[in-house]
Amino acid sequence: MATAPRGRLQGKNAIVTGAAGGIGLETTILFAREGASVLMADISEPALAKALAKVKEVAPNAYRVETIKCDVSKEDDVKAMIESQDGWGGTDVIFNNAGIMHADDADAVDTPEKIWDLTHNINVKGVWFGSKHAVLSLRRHKKTKGSIINTASVVALVGSATPQLAYTASKGAVLAMTRELAIVHAREGFRFNSLCPAPLNTPLLQDWLGDDQPKRHRREVHFPTGRFGEAIEQANAVVFLASDEASFVNGTDFVVDGGMTRAYVTPE
Ligand code: NAD
Repeated sequence: MATAPRGRLQGKNAIVTGAAGGIGLETTILFAREGASVLMADISEPALAKALAKVKEVAPNAYRVETIKCDVSKEDDVKAMIESQDGWGGTDVIFNNAGIMHADDADAVDTPEKIWDLTHNINVKGVWFGSKHAVLSLRRHKKTKGSIINTASVVALVGSATPQLAYTASKGAVLAMTRELAIVHAREGFRFNSLCPAPLNTPLLQDWLGDDQPKRHRREVHFPTGRFGEAIEQANAVVFLASDEASFVNGTDFVVDGGMTRAYVTPE
C-alpha cells in the first residue's frame, strides 16, 4: 500500500502523453517519485503495459499511476483522457509530449502530403487538444494554477542539417502556439512552457538514424558535449516546469540541448 505522497509534485494530478516512449516514460517515473499521481497516455496499449511495469519496478512507492489508451490526434480521445482525471480531483499538470518523426519525412520536394498531415495531426493538433482540454478541466475544477508543458524541439529554433520538413514545421507551430497560450491564460494562473530537446538517445531518433553513419555524423558533430542527450535529462527539466518552483516561468522555450543551439562548430 502506497504511503502519502511527498515530493516536489506532492498532491498534483499529472498526465503524460507519449508516456510509453523515451522522454514520456522517464518523466512518468520522476513525476511518480516526486509525489504526483500520474496518468500515462499513449496510442500503443502493449507499450503502455510494458512502461507501467517498468514504473512499478523502479518507483515501487508511487502513489497512483494508471494508464489510458489515447490517440492525441483525436479530440474525443484527449477529452476522455483528461475527463478521466475528474474523479482524481482534476488535472494539475499535463505534459503534451506525444510526437512522431516519420521515416518518409523529407524536404520540400519529397515529403508526401499524407506524411505532412499525419505529422501535423499528432504533433500540432495533439498539443492543441491537450492544451484546450487542460484549460477546460482547470476551469471546471476552479484551479488557480496549472502547468502545461508542450514538447517542441531544437529544430523549432534552428534549421535541421538534414531535411525533415513536416516535423520541423510542426515543432515551430508548437513553440508559437505555446507562447500565445502562456500569455492568454497567464492571469488565470495557468502556465504554458515549451520543452526544446536536442537529438536524444531514444527510439524516435535512433530508429530513424539506424545504420546511416553520414546522417548520424551530421548530427553528432554539432554537439559541444560530443554526445546525444538522454531522456532523463529532459525529464528533470519537465519536473521543474511542472512544479511550483517554476511559478514565475511562463511562455519560455525551455531549451535542454547541452549547448547545441549556442554553438559554432565545424566538421573536422
Ligand atoms: P518516442 O518515439 O520514444 O516516444 C513517443 C511516444 O509517443 C511513443 O510511445 C508513441 O507510441 C507515442 N505516440 C505516437 N503517436 C501517438 C499518438 N497519436 N497519440 C498518443 N501517443 C502517440 O519519442 P521520444 O524521443 O520520447 O519523443 C517524445 C517527444 O519529444 C516527441 O514529441 C518528439 O518529437 C520530441 N523530441 C524528441 C527528440 C529526440 O531526439 N528523441 C528530440 C526533440 C524532440
